Amino acid sequence: VLPEERLPSWIKPGIGKASQLEKVQKLVKRNRLHTICEEGRCPNRSECYASGTASFLLGGSICTRSCAFCQVEKGKSPQEVDVNEAKRVAQAIQQLKLNYVVLTAVARDDLHDHGASIFTETIVAIRELVPNINIEVLTPDFWGGSSNEDTALRLQKERLAKVLSAKPVCFNHNLETVERLQKEVRRGATYRRSLGLLKTAKELAPKTPTKSGLMLGLGETLDEIIKTLKDLRDVNCQQVTIGQYLRPSLSHLPVHKYWHPSEFDDLADIAKNLGFLKVNSGPLVRSSYHAEES
Ligand code: SF4
Ligand code: SF4
Repeated sequence: VLPEERLPSWIKPGIGKASQLEKVQKLVKRNRLHTICEEGRCPNRSECYASGTASFLLGGSICTRSCAFCQVEKGKSPQEVDVNEAKRVAQAIQQLKLNYVVLTAVARDDLHDHGASIFTETIVAIRELVPNINIEVLTPDFWGGSSNEDTALRLQKERLAKVLSAKPVCFNHNLETVERLQKEVRRGATYRRSLGLLKTAKELAPKTPTKSGLMLGLGETLDEIIKTLKDLRDVNCQQVTIGQYLRPSLSHLPVHKYWHPSEFDDLADIAKNLGFLKVNSGPLVRSSYHAEES
């Protein structure tokens, strides 16, 4: 992790209750679970845990892709699917008395359904224990399984339909960055495919809000960000999160720029003017930050 002193003064995590943090950390560890909150040492943990929100990482802790910004462990030999993971996630949510959870997963390109059923089975297990909980999904692009474009598109749609059939309160899929930087930043995903996924989600489940997220600081220009926001609106994406990329370690992509809080505010105005219904824009905003506020 980069030395604290190199970070600009506005990158300061909120101060929260250490006891609450510890409680969640212990429970997550005891149940052999993974959360984006803990894996990424998210600066918002105290705030999110206190408001009853957390983001669980499903499908094990090893990803089959290796995006250059991401702190999740990468490996060619992913773990066996743990059939009891869904139950343990559900129990943890019940014990933590969470009221809004974000379910995300490592990209399971090794599985025939790319992990779509991991999402649905976990949703079912959670609702059995906590019936009124709000569950948002933040999915991979579900792309792959055939070199034929039409077949891959059909498979992607089937996987997406499966996840949407579980009726999440929000369908989230991150573009992460502008079109020009996609290849450098994300592995195995493309700008057009991700936009396509968001578009298809809206077609399959028109009433389910769609959401996407961008990390700033990777070398993008303001014009490129605005173009990306417009492209998201063109596929009727309704919610957006915009946050600052922070380098998890020296082996990850360097930060090109720390965008100023006032620039994040300006981008929030631009996004609202483009028609996004919900916009979260700020240096410490993450894809699941304040997700519970509808
Ligand atoms: Fe977890 Fe997301 Fe909150 Fe960070 S912003 S603590 S990842 S729920
Ligand atoms: Fe991280 Fe997702 Fe990329 Fe895997 S696919 S490396 S979990 S961002």
